[in-house]
Amino acid sequence: MKLNMRLNLQRQVDKCENCGAPLSAGHVYSREINGVTHYFCCSHCADEFEGSGHPSCC
Ligand SMILES: [Zn+2]
Repeated sequence: MKLNMRLNLQRQVDKCENCGAPLSAGHVYSREINGVTHYFCCSHCADEFEGSGHPSCC
């Protein structure tokens, strides 16, 4: 319930932002990257998205 309310306050995302898999309300992995909350189907997608979208400079 709290999660749903929180999701509704953020922008509406119904797909994993990395692989495009549909997200269900009870199965969403969210991560804040550079101050923006992104939604994924799993932590692996979050890692991949974070890695490819924001390359870390060494
Ligand atoms: Zn995914």
